[in-house]
Amino acid sequence: MAKKVLVLAESRDGALRNVSFEAIAAAKEISGGGEVFAVLCGDSVQSLATELIHYGADRVLTAENEKLANYTPDGYFQTLKQIIDDESPEAIVFGHTSLGKDLSPRLAARLESGLISDVTGLEQAGENTVFTRPVYSGKAFEKKLISDGLVFVTIRPNNIAPLEKDESRSGDVTSVSVDIKDLRTIVKEVVRKASTGVDLAEAKIIVAGGRGVKSEDGFKPLQELADVLGAAVGASRGACDADYCDYSLQIGQTGKVVTPDLYIACGISGAIQHLAGMSNSKVIVAINKDPEASIFSVADYGIVGDLFEVVPLLTEEFKKVLV
Ligand code: FAD
Repeated sequence: MAKKVLVLAESRDGALRNVSFEAIAAAKEISGGGEVFAVLCGDSVQSLATELIHYGADRVLTAENEKLANYTPDGYFQTLKQIIDDESPEAIVFGHTSLGKDLSPRLAARLESGLISDVTGLEQAGENTVFTRPVYSGKAFEKKLISDGLVFVTIRPNNIAPLEKDESRSGDVTSVSVDIKDLRTIVKEVVRKASTGVDLAEAKIIVAGGRGVKSEDGFKPLQELADVLGAAVGASRGACDADYCDYSLQIGQTGKVVTPDLYIACGISGAIQHLAGMSNSKVIVAINKDPEASIFSVADYGIVGDLFEVVPLLTEEFKKVLV
C-alpha cells in the first residue's frame, strides 16, 4: 500500500546536507510509490527547496521563522508536531545526525510511535519496510519492522545512496506558518571549532591518525594527504586523549560513527572501540609499523611501515594524479 512519507531536510551554512538527499531516497522506498514530502526549517531556507525536489521529493514545506534559525529541541518539536498533525504522514525519516538523534525520539515518544534508529539499509517485505541497523557496536546487524502506526526512522549518513539529481523534476514549495511558543532554549551564539571544511560524518574519504602520530605536529602529514584527497581528518581516542588533536575528531564507540568510501588509518592499533566507529567503511587502508596490529584484521589494504615515511609518499603519488 502506498504511504505518505515526511523527510526532515537539514541545511548548514546555506547548503543542504547530503543526508537529506539520502533520506529522500529512503523515504521513496518506504512510500512504495506514495507521496514523499520534505520539510525544511530555518530563518531563510526557501531558496534551498527546489534542490530537494530535484533529488526526489514530490513537494516541500518550508517553515521559516527567526526562532528556527538555529536548532532548538522545542522550536523544531513544535514545528514538526504541527506539520505532522496537519499532514498525517505514515512514516517520518530523519538523518542519524545530532539533530535527528535529538528530535526523533522526542516526537516518537509524544506521538506514542515506534522509532528505528541508525538505519543502514532497507528492503520491502509485503506492505512493510524492513530496516537493517547495526547492534553491539557494529559486530552484528538486526532487521526490524514496525507493522502498525506511525514509523520514525533515522538513517546513518553515507549508507543509502541518494537518487540521481534530476533538474527537470518539479513540485510545489509551500510556506507554512508555525506558531512557535516561548522557547526554553535560546541559542545566543554558535562558535565553530576550526575544521578542515570537510564534515567528518559525511566525508567520502577520511584520513585518521592514532597515538602513532606521536604529537600535534604529527597530524601535519595526514592533513597534507587529506588536502590532496579532499578528505576529512579524523582520530582515534588515543590521539585525542594524548592531546594531539581535538575530541571533535574522535571516531569510534564514544566518538563519531563514519562510513566513508575510503578510510586511511595511520598509526591506529584497531581497538574494538575504534573499529565500532569505522569498520563499515567501504575500503579500509591501514598503515602501522606493527604487522600484528588488530587494524589489519579489518583492512582491505595494509601497509606495514612507518607512517612518517608512507604518508608523504602517498601524498606525492596522489598529487601526480589528482592535482
Ligand atoms: P594505540 O593503541 O596506542 O596504538 C598506536 C598504534 O600506532 C600502534 O598499533 C603502533 O604500532 C602504531 N604506531 C606507532 N608509531 C607508528 C609509526 N611511526 N608508524 C606507523 N604506526 C605506528 N577509542 C577510539 O578510537 N574511539 C572511541 O570512540 C573509543 N571509545 C572508547 C570507549 C571506552 C568505554 C573505552 C574503555 C575505550 C575507548 N576507546 C576508544 C579507546 C580504545 O580502547 C583504545 O585505547 C584507542 O582506540 C587506542 O588508540 P590508538 O590506536 O591511537 O593507540
